[in-house]
Parts: sequence; C-alpha cells; structure tokens
Amino acid sequence: MDAPTTGDGMGLFTVLSTDVLLSPSGNKVDLKELEGKTIGLYFAANWYWKCEAFTPVLTHVYHQLKQDGSDFEIVFVSSDEDHASFERFHSLMPWPAIPFSDLQSRRSLTQRFQIEGIPSLIIINSKGELIRTDGVELINRYECRAFPFTSEKMAELEADEEAKHASQTLEKLLSLNGRDCVINHKRQVPISELVGKTVGLYFSARRCPPCTKFTSKLASIYNNLKEKNEEFEIVFVSMDRDEAGYLQCYSEMPWLALPYDSESSKALARYFDVQGIPALIIIGPDGKTVTREGRNLINLHLEMAFPFTEAQIRLLQERMDEEAKCYPSTLHHAAHRHILNLVSENTGGGPYLCCECGEQGLGWAYQCLGCGYEIHLKCGRGAEGECAET
Ligand SMILES: [Zn+2]
Ligand SMILES: [Zn+2]
Repeated sequence: MDAPTTGDGMGLFTVLSTDVLLSPSGNKVDLKELEGKTIGLYFAANWYWKCEAFTPVLTHVYHQLKQDGSDFEIVFVSSDEDHASFERFHSLMPWPAIPFSDLQSRRSLTQRFQIEGIPSLIIINSKGELIRTDGVELINRYECRAFPFTSEKMAELEADEEAKHASQTLEKLLSLNGRDCVINHKRQVPISELVGKTVGLYFSARRCPPCTKFTSKLASIYNNLKEKNEEFEIVFVSMDRDEAGYLQCYSEMPWLALPYDSESSKALARYFDVQGIPALIIIGPDGKTVTREGRNLINLHLEMAFPFTEAQIRLLQERMDEEAKCYPSTLHHAAHRHILNLVSENTGGGPYLCCECGEQGLGWAYQCLGCGYEIHLKCGRGAEGECAET
C-alpha cells in the first residue's frame, strides 16, 4: 500500500515531479495555472487506436467543462515512440503535456500510478490527492457529468442511473429526440406497437467480424421465434460511424431499427453500459431490463433462451444437468490427443470458449485441464445427444 497521495496542499508539484509543462504549440505553461484544480493525467499514445478514439471524446468534455467554468485541467503523459509523433498527437489536444524529452517524469508517473494499459486517465483532486484511476470509463459513461469525480458525485450519478432504470419504459428508451417510430426497412412502425413484447436492443456495426457472425445466427433464431408467433422483436441500434455503414449493416437484418442517429445510439449504449459489440440487451414486456447478457444466452441456448428470464434460464440449466447424465464421464475426441473429462460448473467447468465451434459455453463441458482444451458436450458427440431409452 503506497497510495500516491500528497494531500498537504503542495499537491501538484509533488505529483507531477516536474515544473515544466508544454502547451500544444510548444510554449512553457506555468504550473501555477493548474493549482487548485482537479487534474486528469492522460496516459496515451498515438499508435494505439483506443487512444486515438478516446482523445476526441475527452477533448469534447474538456471544452464543455471549460465553457462551464469548471476548475479542470488535463496533462498529457505520452508514450509515443518518438518526438515527432508526440508533437503530432499533442497538437490534437487542447491541454498541456509533460515534455517528451522529460523521460524521467513520464516514467515515474507511469510507475507511480501503476499504469498497465492505455488510454488511462488518473484523476487528482485540487489537494493533489489521487481520487480515481478509472477516468476513461467515467468519461465514456457520464461525459461532463462525471466532474469533479468525487465519491459524492459518483454516488449521485449512480442513484440517478438507478432511478432512471427503475422508471424505464420502452417508449422512454426508444423515443429519443421526440420520435415515436422505429423503422422496418422502408416502413415506419409506431413504438406503441412494441409495448408489451419482449424486445432485444441489438448494438452492432459493420466491419466488426463478431457482429457479422452473430447477426446471422440471431437472424435465424429471430425467424424461428417469429414463425412460432412469439411476442418478440429486435431493434438494431447502430454503432456505425456513418450512415453508409448503418445502411449496409441493416440491409442484412430481418428486424426493426432505430433511424440513424449516432448521438442517440451512443446515449443508449452509455445508458446500458455497453462495453463491446455485438451486444443484445433484453427488455421485458413491462419495459424493464431483463438481462444485458442476451448475446451469451443466445450463444448458449439458441432460441430456447427466449424470453431470457431468470426462470427460463434456470429451467434450461436444470435440463442441461439432466442431459449431462447421459454423457460418458470421459471422451476420446478426434480433434484432441488426450482423453477429455466431463466437468460441470461445480467440478471446474466455468465459462469457456468451445475449441470445436468457437462459441461460448458455460457449466457442462468436456475438458482437458492440462491443455486448457474445452468443448461443448454436443460438440464432442456430433449432433445427437439423447439418452438411450430406459
Ligand atoms: Zn461447441
Ligand atoms: Zn490435452
């Protein structure tokens, strides 16, 4: 435990371990300008796409906070490969940086705050005390509202979120910007027609191979459920960067979509804390969230997952336990040179990726512990897996 705090009002000088900062145009910045402010130490590098993507988000928040007169400043701590790249990257930012030549300060900050991945935004309060290490997540989730990052502020934001989720309805979720329709390719569909159904919000984008793969699987499940007249609908929420991507992505989907509006889509993704795509959030007939794990549940149980409720998943789990009794306790699988053992969640089979079909699995599996080789029961045996008649 060596919490990097100073807390004696001397604050920032000690934290930064330098008294020279450079503006984006290369001029010296007086450290006094930073005193008494909440500081974000921004660890990033131009060569990593996640930093490239996060920098404009942070810049937007920075400008807004400045406009509101908030006492916030950011200091860029570069891990660029050379001086020219540093200058190019820093010129895109409106805040000062530790000079690239000051390798010692950059290194000591990286060590002091135990930076393991970039981008990283470390928040120091006006007294020079470390208060948050998850600035990137907080900015992505709350944008300006995250300021000043104090525990009181976090508690307030979480209470806000909770209240929003508690009063959530399908209309509130989908009628962003006052719109009352979603689209079914060329046709408009009133949101009111979806009320009372189980609705999947499908976050996806073009040029995302896992999305493409999951979309085709989801489409066949969707069509099967529709054939059975289940009260189920899916709405595509585009994470595409442009409308062309959205249109192409949507052309491969048999379900509804929100019209292209990247701000509303991003707001929805933030609201559900979508961390990666594809993601399938399931909304129940009462308008409340059933699960954010729609994708995993589809991968595990296919259309049997519907309506995705806890009761249904428990039932499927019990059925899997029952079925597993029909499988031999060891298996020689052609694709692996060792004997595989039948394992359940209780005997070491947690979540896994099936080495045979590449999809997620949970609980029951055939496993070679030594090699980390794990497959679904059904994948070990071909298609059939029925008990012999008793
Ligand atoms: Zn499998
Ligand atoms: Zn093995």
